[in-house]
Amino acid sequence: GKIAQMSAEVVDSNPYSRLMALQRMGIVKDYERIRNKTVAVVGVGGVGSVAAEMLTRCGVGRLLIYDYDKVELANMNRLFFRPEHCGMTKTDAAKKTLQEINPDVEIESYTMNITTLQGFDAFKSSLLRPNDPTGSQSRVDLVLSCVDNYEARITINQVCLELQQTWMESGVSEDAVAGHIQLLVPGETACFQCVPPLVVASGIDERTLKREGVCAASLPTTMGIVAGMLVQAALKYMLDFGTVSKYLGYNSLKDFFPTMEIKPSAACVNPLCRQRQAEDEARRNSPEALAARA
Ligand code: ATP
Ligand code: ZN
Repeated sequence: GKIAQMSAEVVDSNPYSRLMALQRMGIVKDYERIRNKTVAVVGVGGVGSVAAEMLTRCGVGRLLIYDYDKVELANMNRLFFRPEHCGMTKTDAAKKTLQEINPDVEIESYTMNITTLQGFDAFKSSLLRPNDPTGSQSRVDLVLSCVDNYEARITINQVCLELQQTWMESGVSEDAVAGHIQLLVPGETACFQCVPPLVVASGIDERTLKREGVCAASLPTTMGIVAGMLVQAALKYMLDFGTVSKYLGYNSLKDFFPTMEIKPSAACVNPLCRQRQAEDEARRNSPEALAARA
């Protein structure tokens, strides 16, 4: 592709030159690996659409995008979508724009509600490797949750526990002045059900979740910042540079970015999470792992 053809010394009109400079400056070892990465962005609203655009401009190999909603005029206080997109599904409008921005990225769009019985199965199978005899191998490197409700997050949590898929969750508070991202590795970190999310977020914000019947506030600033935090963490995770915090919060009123570790709970209500924790413990206590630590 374009990256391979590019001369490392010249900053020309090639959109990848500045990205490859990250490698020359020693930040990232092998930036071109981004071309082999597949990312699923679930929810292409205020945060997800911007995250998808950032990944597209970074030259990710393949993007899977999911949403059931249409673009409305009410979305224009956000970034990414434009008035001419009104009436289109968010997935169609996003795919069209992203493809124009970077034709090298393979984009698969899924117009679906992931929380229905059918939607759950369709979502799960879209993440599966084709022709895999076990039927449980994920083909994506990372799932980014950019949805705005509890049910959808629970669905992503369940699918990722089933596929042993690492994912990142994001959220913006109802009052639009705070947000967070969280890394979820089945068995290794807390799952979305291990710790009630309100408790997790209580350090900065007790209202991360959208309440029914409440008209939430929204700011393109906070959503853009959370999308940036999310994709920065995704790049660090996928290309192995820097630290990926298990939890990173953003409190805009206090200019405060708290980080924390969230350990899995032995008492998690989700039995599959408890199973993944046991498997992780067995891995950590295996002769190979013990030898490696000695
Ligand atoms: P508003 O605040 O006006 O409700 P919104 O619904 O666009 O705006 P955002 O926080 O901007 O909310 O984005 C969340 C996105 O996640 C939306 O585009 C929404 O359609 C999508 N989403 C939420 N639940 C699901 C689901 N179960 N399946 C697919 N997409 C979902
Ligand atoms: Zn759990």
